[in-house]
Amino acid sequence: MNCPYCGKPMVAQTNKTNPNAPDWKCSDPNCKKSYNWKTKEWEDSKYITGAWNPKPKGNTVSTDFEDRLKVVETDLEKVKQIIRDRWNAEIN
Ligand SMILES: [Zn+2]
Repeated sequence: MNCPYCGKPMVAQTNKTNPNAPDWKCSDPNCKKSYNWKTKEWEDSKYITGAWNPKPKGNTVSTDFEDRLKVVETDLEKVKQIIRDRWNAEIN
């Protein structure tokens, strides 16, 4: 893993206590940047530049997908009902 900002090697944070803390930190203590996803630019930060391991993808994806499908199907039924109601109102 290399620093996404300066490209130097990063140090694994194996004993991190805060689950939101980065999994990796830049080996350069003067490299203090954070990436702003809104502006897509690097900004000065109080903390050393960090990086996170990609989220593991396991069996939870399929159940997630089924859950999402149910939500969409429920919404679709609502939309169908609205269209039916409007249709009936126009016809009558
Ligand atoms: Zn760096």
